[in-house]
Amino acid sequence: MRIVPANGKLSLKNDGTLEIFFLGVGSAFAKTLYQTNFVIVQGDTHVVVDFGMTGPMALHNLAGLEMSGLEVILPTHSHADHVGGIESLALANRYIARRIMGKPKLKMIVTEEYERILWDMTLRGGLEWNEQDDAGKKLSFYDYFDPIRPAWKGGHDRETFEVQVGDIHIEMFRTKHVPEQAATWQDSFISYGVYINHRVFVSADTRMDAELLDHYAPISEVMFHDVQFFSGAVHTPLSDLQALPADVKKKMFLIHYSDNWQQHTVDDFGGYAQQGYRYIFD
Ligand SMILES: [Zn+2]
Repeated sequence: MRIVPANGKLSLKNDGTLEIFFLGVGSAFAKTLYQTNFVIVQGDTHVVVDFGMTGPMALHNLAGLEMSGLEVILPTHSHADHVGGIESLALANRYIARRIMGKPKLKMIVTEEYERILWDMTLRGGLEWNEQDDAGKKLSFYDYFDPIRPAWKGGHDRETFEVQVGDIHIEMFRTKHVPEQAATWQDSFISYGVYINHRVFVSADTRMDAELLDHYAPISEVMFHDVQFFSGAVHTPLSDLQALPADVKKKMFLIHYSDNWQQHTVDDFGGYAQQGYRYIFD
């Protein structure tokens, strides 16, 4: 893997190599980092995984891109640091990209179950009433998004889906994120992590989940894992990750960290993933 600074300019097309660009690596509360959202690029295809409250500004400042240029999004779960920018993105797509620039409707990789939750509990308030069509109806999810349905992937001991978009293959697995009291992923609210091209693991948000790491660590070249610097709560404590085998830590880069990250040494890991950088998998 090569780590290359984007110097404020990301292209949404490349020569066919898988790359991941971090629009942010911060926690929900970070003030000196953008929130952990990223863009997967391979060939002519891109997928934006999560677009939180800081997404629109990070896209502009770190990638030199406008929202009207984005085509495919994959929201992992309903916290605002992961979906808080989607209303803005949907409006930019409908009223700028499509109406003025003639671009296609935004595509969203989303299961049927999560589509209903995301629309009814998060997006509808800001998107439903912006206009009425000739039939007088309010706008729906489908006026803003074309869904891409991931397929159920059997043979896993947790809920897992997979989807192919262009050259990019994404496996989506359920994580154990909220509430803090949930004992298993089944008891947790919907939240997905992703495994890209059978090579790269990104936890998105999860509490420590040994079974998840047992499954993906042996089959991942590189792992990006969320971290918090204290015990309890709804992310994975650094102390739990420090107890992992040395070979796993070596290929693990930390994401979703708080502003005081420089006080915590992670020399035995790959390191802290950095926003504004391209992680290129030749
Ligand atoms: Zn979260």
